[in-house]
Amino acid sequence: MQFSKLDLIPSLCANLEKEGYEKPTPVQTESIPAVLAGRDLLACAQTGTGKTAAFALPILQTLSRTRPVNLPCGAHVLVLTPTRELAEQIGESFGVYGRGLNLKTTVVYGGVGYVPQKDALRRGVDVLVATPGRLLDLIEQRAVILARTAVFVLDEADRMLDMGFIRDVRRIAEFLPRRRQTLLFSATMPAEIRSLAENLLVDPHQVQVAPPSATADNIDQSVYFVAKADKPALLRHLLSHDAAERVLVFTRTKHGADRVARKLCRAGIDAESIHGDKAQGARRRSLDRFKTGEARVLVATDVASRGIDIDSISHVVNYELPDVPETYIHRIGRTARAGASGVSVSFCDEQERVCLRDIERLIRARLKVMETPDITLLEEDLAAERKAQAAFDRLPDRDRPARRHNERRDRGNGNGLPFYEKFSGPGQRGRRRRDGRREGSGRIGEDGNRHTDSDGADRKPRAPYRTGMFRNRANRRSR
Ligand code: AMP
Repeated sequence: MQFSKLDLIPSLCANLEKEGYEKPTPVQTESIPAVLAGRDLLACAQTGTGKTAAFALPILQTLSRTRPVNLPCGAHVLVLTPTRELAEQIGESFGVYGRGLNLKTTVVYGGVGYVPQKDALRRGVDVLVATPGRLLDLIEQRAVILARTAVFVLDEADRMLDMGFIRDVRRIAEFLPRRRQTLLFSATMPAEIRSLAENLLVDPHQVQVAPPSATADNIDQSVYFVAKADKPALLRHLLSHDAAERVLVFTRTKHGADRVARKLCRAGIDAESIHGDKAQGARRRSLDRFKTGEARVLVATDVASRGIDIDSISHVVNYELPDVPETYIHRIGRTARAGASGVSVSFCDEQERVCLRDIERLIRARLKVMETPDITLLEEDLAAERKAQAAFDRLPDRDRPARRHNERRDRGNGNGLPFYEKFSGPGQRGRRRRDGRREGSGRIGEDGNRHTDSDGADRKPRAPYRTGMFRNRANRRSR
């Protein structure tokens, strides 16, 4: 099957040829004719199957044929996707596939300024690629009006659900006209997505390119049973002994991602981290360093990893297993893209056995259990720790926020709690006197002193304004 057989116009075919696409992937073969015919689509397709082109190509073709009038503050097509990286990538794909068609694509997402996005929207665009939160903001500010949007693409719908965006998606759908074409893509089809699809789609053409819970066949999946404390050493061991050229490591938390990347860097392995707390510029820099091969390892949280489309990831390491088993499928789908083969290695500690069981149940297979190497790297670990500590000690005080934080935490706030747990705990609020005024012990501030008003009533001591690592949390609690 060739792209031309799908009735695609020559300029699109030429662009695909330039990209080196020889023939359509199954999801493209099945979706493109239906979308060109104007039907709604419900596609169950994993990332890496070519689903972006499956919706972008027919949309571009229809736009270039019909050339609808420009809609100031509006868009003919809305593509909603869960993460910024994915939004950028989809925007780029529209640009690449639609080269020479003279169609305008704009990408909007949070974490960056509003002004350029509003400016671009004011002039009207053909394709608007957006993440839900920022799009709702822009709708509320009347910077975008979706009343005449003819095509709505909901990408990675299951991911929207995991990330808590489903309500936003439903709200956005209310701003769209009832008569429209809707395309919904999802790697898995949990009940909530089915019900969403029933609401949004009318008599959809259904495409299923892989069973909902299948994992890519050409991924070698294995698991190491390892104590939590030994995970860093095991990771380094894998990185030094394996043919691990480009490795994507998943952690559960943002701090975890930073910590793992930092440890690798200390051990002389070039690693970057990417997570939702990083500014957009920093995320992009990390991703670029990984893409160009400057950094061999990228440590990511699930949310941030969504948009990572890099063909040659050799290994995916589940440093911590995900709570939601479907996430495992998304993670390992980052390797073995576009027909290549890949390796997925999972680290499972005692507490993660349940997650592993759920994953194995979902993929209906047992992961190959690897013998955990004798991690005789302990000495090396200690040496690395000592070296890092020495380097850290040499830093001027202002560059050591984590240490200051830890010291403060260890010192506590005088009531036996870490400083960020101030004022909590029983018996600190004082009793109410008969006359209604309060008396009592007052509250214990982080300075260790009791704080009472002149009449003896409790007074919440005002915490100093915090700067540094925990500033948001501390300031929110105290103000
Ligand atoms: P997606 O599932 O849209 O994230 O696409 C996964 C990867 O497959 C992307 O890097 C695309 O560039 C690539 N791709 C999409 N369609 C084709 C095709 N027909 N032939 C070869 N590569 C493709």
